[in-house]
Amino acid sequence: MHIPFNLPHLTGKEAHYMYQAVYDGKLSGNGVFTKRCQRFFEEKYGFRKCLLTTSCTDALEMAAMLCGIQPGDEVIVPSYTFVSSALAFVRAGAKIVFADSMKRNPNIDAEQIEALITPRTKVIVPVHYAGVACDMDRIMEIAEKHHLLVVEDAAQAIDSYYKGRPLGTIGHLSAFSFHETKNIISGEGGMLGINDERFVRRAEIIWEKGTNRAEFFRGEVNKYGWCDIGSSFLPSEVVAAFLWAQLEALDDIQTKRKSLWNKYYELLKPMAEQGCFRLPDIPDYATNNAHMFYLVCNSLAERTALIKKLKDNDILAVFHYLSLHSSEYYKGKHDGRQLPECDRYADCLVRLPMYYELGLEDVERICASYY
Ligand SMILES: *Cc1c(COP(=O)(O)O)cnc(C)c1O
Repeated sequence: MHIPFNLPHLTGKEAHYMYQAVYDGKLSGNGVFTKRCQRFFEEKYGFRKCLLTTSCTDALEMAAMLCGIQPGDEVIVPSYTFVSSALAFVRAGAKIVFADSMKRNPNIDAEQIEALITPRTKVIVPVHYAGVACDMDRIMEIAEKHHLLVVEDAAQAIDSYYKGRPLGTIGHLSAFSFHETKNIISGEGGMLGINDERFVRRAEIIWEKGTNRAEFFRGEVNKYGWCDIGSSFLPSEVVAAFLWAQLEALDDIQTKRKSLWNKYYELLKPMAEQGCFRLPDIPDYATNNAHMFYLVCNSLAERTALIKKLKDNDILAVFHYLSLHSSEYYKGKHDGRQLPECDRYADCLVRLPMYYELGLEDVERICASYY
């Protein structure tokens, strides 16, 4: 039987809530389900304010607007990440200064950030790879010292923590994804988390096409109009209804994913101890939200062989990011620095199947096919 890399998990309530949204007759954004989802995050994790968006990319674009990025401003982003972490700031005219990953895991190496700061630096974008926290105390300390803003790319980091603090609540702003490859999904979808009071009002205006429509509907002003830049960043209520069904099942989904993750870890540990590959690294300050199970092979050739071996067993394992600093779009703009750790993860990291419907017996089959 074929084992895919990912399958979107349905809790069973999605169609029911979507039906409700449709027949309640309010289909545009910022309705009952949108507010319910936003309140869920605000109350469970302590965000100052949350706004659902149509994607994490959109949430990052909102963050770039809120940070006031102007052409020529510099933004520090790890090179080992998804395109959107950089693209959202490039759209606002920023120059991206790519940072290398750590040796121990693919997250940004906080110790190398300070050397990248110039008078034009505005923002640092830590990406919590695989839902495992970056060293946020160190990053916030650097940001404070140099008067920079921090936007957490928490696309993969739902329900994960740094020293007991929920990821996405530490930086000034944060962005989450509900793309169908993430733990909690709505097909396409995302959310902006706002932790700094200064950004709350303006975020709502940018979200609603540059108007103060949200304030108007709360009865705080008696007419609404154009006050700022913005775009249409709201998902429809149909999408929010789908998301609500997922959020209701968050604990169940996380428990199941963690049981699969732990099984992988336990079964692959003996081979890792023999030096066949490295297992995921979770620092003491971080938790694991079982977004992903990855291995780091010793070379590109070993990774290619491993992916092939699994494919011969009808199992789909996939590599991950190609270094953004040497991408077709950015290589001519990059300042030429070598980022060896990033390149190593691009060559050697492989992700194993991870989704709710995967069984513990499937994990056993996947691990057995290495031998
Ligand atoms: C998935 C992902 C994104 C993009 O999310 P979308 O919702 O598809 O826009 C951005 N950054 C990281 C790190 C991601 O994993």
